[in-house]
Amino acid sequence: QAKKLGRNRVEFFTPALQAELHAERRLADELRLAPVLRQIEPFYQIQVNARSRRIVGLEALARWRHPEKGLLNPAAFLKVADEYGLTPEIDAAVLKWALADRAAWVSRGLVPPRIAVNISGRRLADPDLIEGLQALKIPRHAIAFELVETIFLDDPDDRVLANIDGIKKMGIDIEIDDFGSGHASLIGLVKLKPKRLKIDRQLVTAVTVSDEQRRLVSSIVDIARALNVEVIAEGVETEEHARILAEVGCDELQGYAIGYPSPESQIAALLKSAHAKGRSRSTVGGAGD
Ligand code: C2E
Ligand code: MG
Ligand code: MG
Ligand code: MG
Repeated sequence: QAKKLGRNRVEFFTPALQAELHAERRLADELRLAPVLRQIEPFYQIQVNARSRRIVGLEALARWRHPEKGLLNPAAFLKVADEYGLTPEIDAAVLKWALADRAAWVSRGLVPPRIAVNISGRRLADPDLIEGLQALKIPRHAIAFELVETIFLDDPDDRVLANIDGIKKMGIDIEIDDFGSGHASLIGLVKLKPKRLKIDRQLVTAVTVSDEQRRLVSSIVDIARALNVEVIAEGVETEEHARILAEVGCDELQGYAIGYPSPESQIAALLKSAHAKGRSRSTVGGAGD
């Protein structure tokens, strides 16, 4: 697609644009190989119960360990990945890696909470998705998939709906990511019946701005309640955010105020100390609450 563009319209491109296109293509070529070379790995960010503050989940966030550029965040490569159709391989690599980390934690006697993995629209429409997932032998309730609401809320096609159904049947939770920031359709929410929704960071950080904003988030929580959907607040940056969100009935919290995305070793240490603490109180906190 980009190649065609380049060939037919190259004379209209300024040198700067040409250089940009060239750099993008190079990045895409590297990115195509990155999952195979095991350069795509997850960092994990903890999710806690809003009242007890116990760890109830982890979100796996893709990082690209680029051989020359160092550790890259999704902002540096997801746009190109999307343009070149490479997101499904990235999603799959993150899931596989997360399952391997989880298995290693279990073998060390740790009790990992559920792990939320982001899934792109393209992967969600893959007709071979369910077969591929089945081959991974994912333990029930070990994994959740986070979908951005734009994927489905307009008018999800049958294949996407069938895949979502298959995912649920495997015991993988469906979560709506960035809720409230895109084409939020309540009809879509009813149709999809997700396990939980994640209130978008912009709404979350605004709860301290005005009473209206706080009531808006409070109402979203009420809607979720009415539909039997759990609620996570993402992008919780201050203790005040955390307090207000707990007050309005948010179930779980995630954000810099709770913990930064961190490499596996740090998460394993956290799980270990949480486990030890739970044992000394003789109330082991593991998955769920
Ligand atoms: P997201 O799924 O909404 O993930 C939350 C993003 O917000 C993460 O950025 C996280 O590091 C950041 N974040 C967490 N807490 C806070 C906070 O308190 N304040 C602020 N300002 N930011 C916070 P990250 O890791 O750069 O990921 C960005 C986006 O890239 C993700 O947004 C998700 O849409 C996408 N992404 C990440 N990993 C994958 C993946 O494996 N597959 C796909 N398809 N997309 C992914
Ligand atoms: Mg997410
Ligand atoms: Mg999100
Ligand atoms: Mg977000």
